[in-house]
Amino acid sequence: MNAALARKAEAHGMEFPLAETIYDVAVIGGGPAGYTAAIRGAEYGLKVALIDASQKLGGTCLHVGCIPTKALLFNAELWEYVKDAAEYGIKLGEGGIGTPALDWAAVMARKNAIITKHVNGLNFLMKKHKIAVIAGFGRLTGAAQGGVHTVEVETNGQKSPVKAKNVILATGSEAKLLPGLKADSTVLTNIEILDLSAPPKSLIVIGAGAVGVEFASIFRSFGTDVTILEFLSRVVPVEDEEISKELARVFRKRGIETSTGAKVEKVEKTAGGVRVSYTDANGKAQVKEAEKVLVAVGRGPLTSGIGLEKTKVELERGFVKVNEVQETAEPGVYAIGDIVAGLPQLAHVGAMSGMVAMAKIAGRKYRPVRRDRIPSCTYTDPQIGSAGLTEAQAREKGHEVKVGKFPFAGNSKATIVGSHDGFVKVVADAKYGEILGVHIIGPQATELIAEAVAVMELEGTVEHLMFTIHAHPTLSEAMLDGYGAVEGMAINA
Ligand SMILES: Cc1cc2nc3c(=O)[nH]c(=O)nc-3n(C[C@H](O)[C@H](O)[C@H](O)COP(=O)(O)OP(=O)(O)OC[C@H]3O[C@@H](n4cnc5c(N)ncnc54)[C@H](O)[C@@H]3O)c2cc1C
Repeated sequence: MNAALARKAEAHGMEFPLAETIYDVAVIGGGPAGYTAAIRGAEYGLKVALIDASQKLGGTCLHVGCIPTKALLFNAELWEYVKDAAEYGIKLGEGGIGTPALDWAAVMARKNAIITKHVNGLNFLMKKHKIAVIAGFGRLTGAAQGGVHTVEVETNGQKSPVKAKNVILATGSEAKLLPGLKADSTVLTNIEILDLSAPPKSLIVIGAGAVGVEFASIFRSFGTDVTILEFLSRVVPVEDEEISKELARVFRKRGIETSTGAKVEKVEKTAGGVRVSYTDANGKAQVKEAEKVLVAVGRGPLTSGIGLEKTKVELERGFVKVNEVQETAEPGVYAIGDIVAGLPQLAHVGAMSGMVAMAKIAGRKYRPVRRDRIPSCTYTDPQIGSAGLTEAQAREKGHEVKVGKFPFAGNSKATIVGSHDGFVKVVADAKYGEILGVHIIGPQATELIAEAVAVMELEGTVEHLMFTIHAHPTLSEAMLDGYGAVEGMAINA
């Protein structure tokens, strides 16, 4: 063993593999899927090794995904309130004549401090649960021999075996780029955009999925001219159509320009930034210039170079195929998180898929991840929270559907917090009143959706919910009115 490398790894709370140990489970990848699985495994009393190629646990989510974006979105929300401070009776500066100023370096420093705090938190949890954290790039070496898998772990060219009875693959994903493009200080992915030295004067966002619209929302709040180009016919295309329409409307009001049905043809560097050529929805050639461009066209799974070709693991466009307990076609090899075929790439889905896999390995009770019970949250201004079937999906599936819609304009807490855009939309089964889907756009939608998921998990009905007491004055009363609206009986609209 290389002593210098061992010391370096130890300084980061990581270990070198011990060839003689046979773990119950080796998890490859220390993002939210992998570290959650590792902790749950240890809670079940299993001997767990967690292998990660980077020096810091947390994966995309903690370093360049969920956490830093939500930190910036919180800054953006505060900044919007500060801009309207007078409306709330707050005078800024001496006698109200001071002009609020944005300290971008402090914004970035706070975001980085949050990441560091949570990396330290993860290191603490690993120690607490006696999980062996191993630094290095892990790859499978083939099928298990005598019931034991060998994962080759490479650190700075040095290779060591890690032996385990089960292996969980949790290697995550990376941003896709358009053909011929390379990320740099002008052409950005989620990584570069989170490290800008100042908000750009103008930004083109290619892709109106959650990542694209969140960055559009953040930088618009900080004064950037933002244009979104989306290939499909609407923004946030996985959401209910009415949600897409409302987000586009509010974004327009906020000064975010959106072009849907836009096919990007070329991205070229210019002296001042970038020029993006695209064909618009009417088939007309268009050109747009900006200081920076963010490419947010989806994320590809990191499944090459990890030894899958030496196993029976089956892939679908690079994603790993699994059964309901996350097991691949190779016995004893599981896959969780962003690399799994057919699951949305979300941290909470990755984490839950890890808990399911560990429960199966430990021989404990589990409930498989259900696609129709996954909350989907977009933390834009206004926020979006949704779960279950959209109205169109419910009708396609042959349900006789009843829909209720309640606008936040009728909710007193929404007035108090100065946030009246949006609505709660409830899609219910007409015959039995079962809640099939809930779609919220508006204040705290990402928090409110938790109630809907719990209700759907318990197969709650409109009738149950119309008689469920929601505190006053709260945003959650908009949920109560949403359920009532299904029967045409919202109180506040
Ligand atoms: C900008 C942005 C914002 C997002 N916001 C949200 C959000 O608000 N909510 C949400 O739910 N999701 C969000 N996501 C998605 C979320 O980040 C991912 O779904 C989540 O990180 C996936 O977790 P994972 O553990 O599967 O993979 P990752 O988080 O990508 O972690 C994979 C880990 O595996 C390691 N690794 C890779 N290959 C190897 C190898 N061969 N050997 C050892 N280690 C390896 C990597 O170093 C990494 O640490 C966001 C994503 C982006 C890009």
